[in-house]
Order: sequence, then C-alpha cells, then structure tokens
Amino acid sequence: MTDTVRVRFAPSPTGYLHVGGARTALFNWLYARRSGGKFLLRIEDTDKARSSEAHIRVILDGLAWLGLDVDEEVVFQGAGVSRHQALADRLLDEGKAYEDEGAIRFRMPREEISWDDAVYGHIRFQGSDIKDWIILRSDRSPTYNFTVVADDIEMRITHVMRGDDHISNTPKQIAVYDALEREPPTFVHLPMIHGPDGKRLSKRHGATAVADYQQSGILPAAMRNFLALLGWNPGDERELFFTISELIEAFSVEKIQKKSAVFDITKLEWMNGQYISRTTPEQLFPLIEGELVDAGLDLDTIGRDRLLRATAVQSERARTTLELAHRLAIRFDASLIERDAKANKLISKDPTGFRSALSAAAQRLSGIEDSQWEAERLETELRSLANELELAPGKVFQPIRVAVTGNTVSEPVNVLLEVVGKQESLARMEAAKGWEPTA
Ligand code: GLU
Repeated sequence: MTDTVRVRFAPSPTGYLHVGGARTALFNWLYARRSGGKFLLRIEDTDKARSSEAHIRVILDGLAWLGLDVDEEVVFQGAGVSRHQALADRLLDEGKAYEDEGAIRFRMPREEISWDDAVYGHIRFQGSDIKDWIILRSDRSPTYNFTVVADDIEMRITHVMRGDDHISNTPKQIAVYDALEREPPTFVHLPMIHGPDGKRLSKRHGATAVADYQQSGILPAAMRNFLALLGWNPGDERELFFTISELIEAFSVEKIQKKSAVFDITKLEWMNGQYISRTTPEQLFPLIEGELVDAGLDLDTIGRDRLLRATAVQSERARTTLELAHRLAIRFDASLIERDAKANKLISKDPTGFRSALSAAAQRLSGIEDSQWEAERLETELRSLANELELAPGKVFQPIRVAVTGNTVSEPVNVLLEVVGKQESLARMEAAKGWEPTA
C-alpha cells in the first residue's frame, strides 16, 4: 500500500507573500489534488522578532485568493518548540549531538549524503564538507534545518517541494532524518524564478508580492495559470490556458523543469487580458464596481444595461480589471478624460481640420433619433459623411475618438459613441472644439 501523499507549504511570515512562494504553494497544492493527497500549511514563525500576525494574514489571504485551499488545521511551528527541544535533547543523549557553549550542535556524519531529487536527479554531498551545526541555540531556540525535519516528520510529510535554494540545506536535513532513524521524504526542488534579463527575480523587475497583482487587477485564474507555467511544462508548448481542473489533471512532477523559469509581467498581463476577454460582463462587473464608485460614478443613474454593455466592450481590450474600470469610468465621466500626447499631436497638427471635422460630425449625428443611437446606424452615418466630405473615414473617426476619450486608440468609434450616449457624445465633441492645441 502506498502512503497517501502529504505535502506542505512552509512560509516564514516575515514579509509579504512573494510570487515565488505562491508558485511553490501552487505546485504543492496541484500535486496534492492530483494524487488525492493532502495539502498542508505550516507557518514557520519561530523568528518571533520578524514574524507578525499581519504577515500571516497576508499569506492566508493570498492562498485564498489563488483558490489554494488547505487541508487540516494550519500548523504554527512556534507551537512545537518544546517538542523540538525534546528531540534535540534526545540526540544529545544518544551522542548524535553535543553541547557547545550552551548550544547543542549536531554531529554531521563524515560519509557521502545523497538523494534522488525528483527534479534534479541524483545529488550528492560529502558529509565531511559540512561542519557540525547548531540545532538548539544556547537560549534553547531551535534552528531552521532542525525544526523543518522535526515538523515534516510530525506532519508525516511524504514530499518536500520547495525552491531549489534549499538544495544546500538538504544534506543537513537528511542527516537529521538518519539520526532520528526516519525515512526522508522525496525532495522536489523547484527551479528558481528569474526576470526576463536572466537575473534572479527582484523588485527591479516589477511587483513581486502576490497582493500587488491582486490589487492591480489580475484575475486569480490568470495568476494561477501563469504561476503554474513557471517551471512546469504540460508537454504541449502550444497549450497555454488551463482551467483549474485541467491544471490538476495535467500536473505531474516529471514535467517540472530544471532550468530557471522566467517571470515576464508583460506575458502575465497579456494572459490576464485573455482571461478578462473570456469572462462574461456579468462576472466582471462586480470586480470593477468598487473602482467605479470610487471614481465617482453614479451607477444607478447610468443603469445596469449600459454598464454591462460598456464592460463587454472594454473586456476585449483591457489587460487588468483596473485598466478596465478606468476606461469604463472615462466613458461615463468626461472630467476623467486626460488628453495624451498623441491626441495633442493630432490636434496641433491641424487644429482647423480637427474642429471642422467635429462640427460636421456633430451636425450629422445630432439628427439621429435617440432611439436610433446604436453602433450600426452611427457607422452608416459617419461613413456617408466622410464620403460626402471626400475624406478618408479615419479623418472623421479620429477627431471624434480624441474628443470623446482623449486618446487616439479605443474601441471602434461607432461602438464608443453608442456606449457614451448621444447627449454626452455631442457635449464632448462640442467641448473639444475649444481645446487649445498644445505644442
Ligand atoms: N520557511 C522556509 C522557507 O520559507 C521553508 C523551506 C522548506 O519548505 O523547507 O524557505
């Protein structure tokens, strides 16, 4: 009978939840779900000075946001200190450790220590190269390499899946398993995460906290999908989008790669945009509602139908829900318009042409009945106007786009006008005629 898989995520609550930590948690969770095992959480809070309740909250919130549910009670390492001390005393009694200036030092075996890493293959260290090390400090506080083994034994962990920066700790930990006459778990070391420049991921590359991505409008499904592909390859390179059950189905330790993974924020945002465009406006709207209210929009007055229509239109263009909310807000509140450099350039290049195009268009569009103000009709009118004026359609569309949004890029102008509404569109076009060209 094979033992049920039991894996754990073991963060130290001394800072925010790093994307690398989230990737480790996700791989453990996927492996547990794939194998019908258990995913456990151990908060390594023995460093009391640096650990805090707030950091624990952030970790729990991050896991919950990513949908990584934890089986069994969360284990707090700090609660096990007397057990750690008893184990250290036992090793002392058995002569496998010795006292040194009040501390307890572990006697490293001299021979080779090796293991078959599930990712890196056979790894060997010479015990004689590693100095005897402290397992219990003189104040009787236990040290990391000792507590991790004590707790992994206590929690009956079968697979230790963690960043490969822990490879150098592993021989010390295996030596403790041996000293305690316990079988070590399977070690699964995950490749490092680098920035696109090949350097170890750091804040220089952009946000490294999961919460920052949550706040900037990344969807948890997109984040999960993106993190899953950091160092894991489903086998088919073309396959990029997975539902959570597809990820569980496809996940296997054999397909974890040795080479470092690249954390490319542009790719994450692109991927997020894809998720947004595949999400219904009804599902997206609650995610942006708060932003819209904060931006000062009166949602009741605008009405649900128009808001959903505008959400649907922007969902095809926004990379984050924050961007989605911002674009949507501009469509309902002219005071949020910020003319960008390209828009200014378009105006200053030909101020007279800009104004006359707006006048002609406004005149033409004001003749459309309120009930007829929809994309198809608007397109017909604008094209025939351009035709009559012997202008390329863009010469009519671009001034309108700039007047209504302040930008030279948006959804198709006819759709834009429909979303913004007749009165408001005409008012914006009128106001833009007074815009001073800037250099
Ligand atoms: N607290 C350690 C860390 O955050 C745990 C390492 C492990 O998983 O063994 O790096």
